[in-house]
Amino acid sequence: MSKINTEMSALMQTYNRFPLTLTKGKGSYVWDEEGASYLDFTSGIAVCNLGHVPEEVKHAVSEQLEQLWHCSNLFHIPAQEKAARLLCGNDFDEAFFCNSGAEANEAAWKLARKYMYDQNKKEKTDIISFTHSFHGRTGGAMAATAQEKVHTGFTPLMPGFSYLPFNEETVTEKINPEKTAAVMLELIQGEGGVRAADKSWVNNLAEFCSKNDILLIIDEIQTGAGRTGTLFAYEQYSIKPDILTAAKGIGSGFPAGAMLAPKNIAASFNHGTHGTTFGGNPLSMTAVYATISAILEPGFLEDVKNKGMYFQKELQNAAAGYEVEIRGSGLMTGMAFKETIVPLIDHLRKNGVLALPAGPDVLRILPPLTASYMELSAFADTLKQSLNEWKEGE
Ligand SMILES: *Cc1c(COP(=O)(O)O)cnc(C)c1O
Repeated sequence: MSKINTEMSALMQTYNRFPLTLTKGKGSYVWDEEGASYLDFTSGIAVCNLGHVPEEVKHAVSEQLEQLWHCSNLFHIPAQEKAARLLCGNDFDEAFFCNSGAEANEAAWKLARKYMYDQNKKEKTDIISFTHSFHGRTGGAMAATAQEKVHTGFTPLMPGFSYLPFNEETVTEKINPEKTAAVMLELIQGEGGVRAADKSWVNNLAEFCSKNDILLIIDEIQTGAGRTGTLFAYEQYSIKPDILTAAKGIGSGFPAGAMLAPKNIAASFNHGTHGTTFGGNPLSMTAVYATISAILEPGFLEDVKNKGMYFQKELQNAAAGYEVEIRGSGLMTGMAFKETIVPLIDHLRKNGVLALPAGPDVLRILPPLTASYMELSAFADTLKQSLNEWKEGE
């Protein structure tokens, strides 16, 4: 239990925090201030994908810590070059680095609009996103997020954003190619309830975009960094994003966001058009390079896929007899119940494991990608016990 009294806190109360103060983490476990350990299947919301304090990242960052902490983007930063090369892979050419997911998304629609402007298609400025999406909390990111509760009290929203129904077949009929710069989506909606985009729907949408000179922005802030069993989730679809945004897991907890694009689009971000003081900082870039290198080690992602399938079966068994839909890919897992799961999360925590909500009725489980089969199985056992306690109203 936490000793912190929120009435006396000097912090703005923007978070309804769990009654827990974490002071240490290693691998799949965290410890509270009284020394109690918890199996952490939140991974800091898909951030600590290599577990807590992973050795390879710790070593790399420790070395950088002795060399240089910060240097302006007015100078060359070798760690950025290395991190960019790894993240871009074969499908992208260039990266822009920032500090967070929302910033990566802000950069994405700035780039999309600038690209249309440079092509002399100045009318194409609209950005379309989808119901249940989550793209962040800044002005633009909030406007792109199609959730009423995120907007309430903050209107007027930034103009030029509109929403269409996620996974609705006839969705392209509602897109005006004359006005639209970009369509943006998560392939598995995270905050929106671990909902996957249907493959054929995404493929049709991508084809429509490509035919109509509309950029396809894929928000991989939660699905990236190996979470779904490939470095990025789009690799499991037959699409190639025009712009990809990443953050959360790419730096193992060091703040980093990235936007990737092919050369012809990236060219619109020429000198002086966009920037950031801290983005691409040597410490965070060293963490990104070490993290992505570990994820791309031979066999690592194959392992995530196999563990994901094993874990979903374990969850299915643990929840036998309950009305629940298990969804997700790799180790991005959701259990959709028919009622609020707040009490279930409390039971789990009291039993020593941490998991997240994704909306009122979806339990979101994001184990570290390095979690062992034994840890995955231990989670399922605790889930079974917690479900019993929840239903018996203990
Ligand atoms: C978390 C998240 C964001 C926002 O990232 P921040 O780093 O919190 O700004 C955007 N999109 C998706 C899909 C996310 O999960």
